[in-house]
Amino acid sequence: GIYLDYNATTPVDPRVYSTMEPYFKEFFGNPASAGHHWGWIAENAVAKARTQVASFIGCKSMEVTFTGGATESNNWVIFGLISKLREENPEAPIHFITSNIEHSSIMKGMAAAQKMGVEVDFLPVNKFGVVELEAVKAAIKPHTKLMSFIWVNNEIGSINPIPEIAALCKEKQIYLHTDATQAVGKIPVNVTEMGIDLMSFSGHKIYGPKGVGALYIRGKDPKVQLNPLIYGGGQERGLRSGTVNVPAVVGFGTACELCQQNFTAEVQHMKDLRDFLWSELQQNIPGVKLNGHPTDRSPANLNITLPGIKTEQILPRLQKLGVSTGSACGTGAMVVSHVLKGLGLSTEEVQCSLRLSLGRWTTQDELSRAAQILKQAIQK
Ligand code: PLP
Repeated sequence: GIYLDYNATTPVDPRVYSTMEPYFKEFFGNPASAGHHWGWIAENAVAKARTQVASFIGCKSMEVTFTGGATESNNWVIFGLISKLREENPEAPIHFITSNIEHSSIMKGMAAAQKMGVEVDFLPVNKFGVVELEAVKAAIKPHTKLMSFIWVNNEIGSINPIPEIAALCKEKQIYLHTDATQAVGKIPVNVTEMGIDLMSFSGHKIYGPKGVGALYIRGKDPKVQLNPLIYGGGQERGLRSGTVNVPAVVGFGTACELCQQNFTAEVQHMKDLRDFLWSELQQNIPGVKLNGHPTDRSPANLNITLPGIKTEQILPRLQKLGVSTGSACGTGAMVVSHVLKGLGLSTEEVQCSLRLSLGRWTTQDELSRAAQILKQAIQK
């Protein structure tokens, strides 16, 4: 089969896997065991991974806290901040701003925050799937405490102007959080230079293992901004309790280092392939439409609407093609992508939409074949 679902997850790079393996075997220690060398070896490995992750995103090691993935990091920001603000002043009103095309972990986390009495604005996006700076400015209230915007959208590959929004937040003393899960490794990210306060990202989208990620929290003492989400034994400086998943963290560190080392060439590789795929699709599928911005988009992603063909109808013929659809009919209830809806697509158009995402091991030959498979499926 041809795997074109790198935005869902990536294979673990063999170089990542080989650095993880010893931490399942001989180096099995608990990094919190301070009294013996099994513990020290694990502790050193976690420390090294933290420097690799920090270097990749342009911050200090102490600003990186390991989590169980971007879903957890996103939830931590929302509920850790609410907890902190309520502790400081239980009566004060709280206002958060986000968009209506966020990942479900932000969408549903923010909806839960509303139930807790937090005011939340879900800003609409423009036709390219981008949050407009003017709309952001207009939404600010005296009690706005947090803005959270996805940097690169996982479905349509649109890119939000995060550095510009960060500058605005700084001026207004509002925390800026970004879900950068699909941004790291694909566009330049430097949290310090770009003035970002909080940033979530994940291992398994950058050729690392699943179930590990990080939250970047600006500054020396993260407890100033956020309360923990998970309480317990005090691991991760009391910010995220639970025994650290050492092999996963080690793999995440290696994955970040590899992305950093090959960044320029890798991005160019993805862009070339993406543009090649788009030209193949246009040649083979008359009337195919691209969702999101035509050029200013993730190098790894194409989201297309097929001309009047519901993906459901052709899915049986796409079994050899690992792609993702805009709507899923799982338990009988149709789930239509809120992201494509947010772009202004009709339900019908969403049902005709497909996401193709590529990465490190995608070849041009695979993309030619993928376009042929799609063409044939549609013709039938
Ligand atoms: N945010 C975005 C933009 C994503 O694409 C994903 C991936 O599914 C997540 C968050 C969730 O990440 P994780 O699987 O690490 O919880």
